Amino acid sequence: MTDIDWNDYSLETQAIRAGHNRTQEDEHSIPIFATSSYVFKSAEEASLRFTGQKPGNIYSRFTNPTVNAFQERLALMEKGERCLAFSSGMAAIMAVGMGLLKAGDHVVCSRGVFGNTVLMFQNYFGKFGVETDFVDLIDTAAWEAAIKPNTRFLFLETPSNPLIEIADIAALADIAHKHDSLLIVDNCFCTPVLQKPFELGADIVIHSATKYIDGQGRCVGGAVIASDEIIEKHIYPYLRTGGATMSPFNAWVFLSGLETLAIRMKAHCDSAFELATWLEQQPGIAKVHYPGLESHAQHQLTKRQQSHFGGIVSFELTGGKEHAWKLIDATEMLSITANLGDVKTTITHPATTTHGRLAPEVRASAGIKDGLVRISVGLENLEDIKKDILRGL
Ligand SMILES: *Cc1c(COP(=O)(O)O)cnc(C)c1O
Repeated sequence: MTDIDWNDYSLETQAIRAGHNRTQEDEHSIPIFATSSYVFKSAEEASLRFTGQKPGNIYSRFTNPTVNAFQERLALMEKGERCLAFSSGMAAIMAVGMGLLKAGDHVVCSRGVFGNTVLMFQNYFGKFGVETDFVDLIDTAAWEAAIKPNTRFLFLETPSNPLIEIADIAALADIAHKHDSLLIVDNCFCTPVLQKPFELGADIVIHSATKYIDGQGRCVGGAVIASDEIIEKHIYPYLRTGGATMSPFNAWVFLSGLETLAIRMKAHCDSAFELATWLEQQPGIAKVHYPGLESHAQHQLTKRQQSHFGGIVSFELTGGKEHAWKLIDATEMLSITANLGDVKTTITHPATTTHGRLAPEVRASAGIKDGLVRISVGLENLEDIKKDILRGL
């Protein structure tokens, strides 16, 4: 089983079978290796492993067989060379910054990225002399204009949250490479099932495994996928020292999450498409943000770049915050939570939760209106989801 070349298999098969090096116990399902350290056969072998002359496990902050299985599987699915797992999506982003940046470096980042990602670049890397400029995700010219001689990388999320705008990954990869910098894509919203950033020229892919990869809202985890060279030179040495390792138990949960990822993503996308189409016809809604709709500004780009349109839909109520809150409070089944990518449908009011700490002018310039509601469409019966939304419409 270990000598199968999983590169020859499709994503759905890799997701179910790749990464498992069966032990002498002949187990069918991947075991959880609950061990912090490993035993060497001799003092000499210990020495060879520590110096890297002989491969093998040393300590679970560095490597663990269950975590390795998750890393191997996700790297194959992303069509990347190597993956390292982290204790959270933020720990993965932190690792990329700590591994690649030094004082005096510059980063260009899209304005709409995850709130903690903004704080990471602005407050924490900023504190150590790294400067970050934020640009409009879909304004390709603004990205290029923001690049400086010391720009180390461009960082983006596509689709964006909560307005579901789509960046042109291939165009931005070309711009990054023309200026000797790297393109980093947070692929959390799409997962490799919908979008493969490496095929479009990205250099590093980030995941929060907490969302669709888990898929059932149980564990927090993250990953960095990149070339052997980037991982070996910049990310793995930081992981060993920084220590934000994924636990074997979480890796085991995420491995089973990956097994059903393709089929879940398809179901999330089908329901989200239908829901967005239906929402567009409802009274009291000024605009629906969903790239599957012809009304979406990047509809054509999305068709080229993604295999499906995604599971997140947001919409603006004409009645502003009052109606948005009323709609949210009138639901009886949907979960009022900012988490996403769960089998359970979640509903949130970005202006007063995830984006509530932004100054009102900043929020307005980012297009996040008071009447905006975001739904992460789950896998319950779609008619039940619609019925719940209709209670407050
Ligand atoms: C949630 C999220 C993160 C952070 O991941 P955690 O696992 O919560 O640390 C990063 N990027 C995106 C797009 C996210 O949605």
